[in-house]
Amino acid sequence: MFGRGKSAEKSIYHHPLLGEVALVRSWRARRVTLSVRPSGEVRLTYPRFVAKSRALEFLESRVEWVEQSRQRLAQRGLTKREFSPEQIEQMRREAKRVLPERVAFWAQKFGFSYGRVTIRAARSKWGSCSGENNISLSLFMMTLPEHLRDYIIIHELCHTVHHNHSAAFHSLVDRCVEGKEKYLRSELRNIG
Ligand SMILES: [Zn+2]
Repeated sequence: MFGRGKSAEKSIYHHPLLGEVALVRSWRARRVTLSVRPSGEVRLTYPRFVAKSRALEFLESRVEWVEQSRQRLAQRGLTKREFSPEQIEQMRREAKRVLPERVAFWAQKFGFSYGRVTIRAARSKWGSCSGENNISLSLFMMTLPEHLRDYIIIHELCHTVHHNHSAAFHSLVDRCVEGKEKYLRSELRNIG
């Protein structure tokens, strides 16, 4: 076949575990390559001098790798969720309006005392408590449901008593959230 300008032949292969795989028989490729796109799409490219069955054998040998790559991409998509600068500014305003008030509410309820509350654009952690008992909270907390925001605030307030993650610290948190610390912690972890 000498189709004008034709450099590749594409087809779809249905893999029992991976689902649809795009097969590309390429006139330019020199070897078999496999790639996973950010969308999760799998593409198997093979040179025209390699039989399709050989290319599929290669795919078969890399099934686990494809699954791991897809998982990694899915996780990255969660933690790198994109927000526009406008959305971030809006969240910051909301956070400043809502969170310090909530900190004051829980502190009063359980008798904690703290210094300042600062709102930051932190992505790596939801909150922290300094040695001087100043509490810092991430504006991305506004993406969470209210009960998880309260859980984070209570966690940081408990650090004003225990500046560590000791058993005593966790039992204090657990008492404040009525025995649901483990459950809340795993719920928060699943969100990312
Ligand atoms: Zn902590």
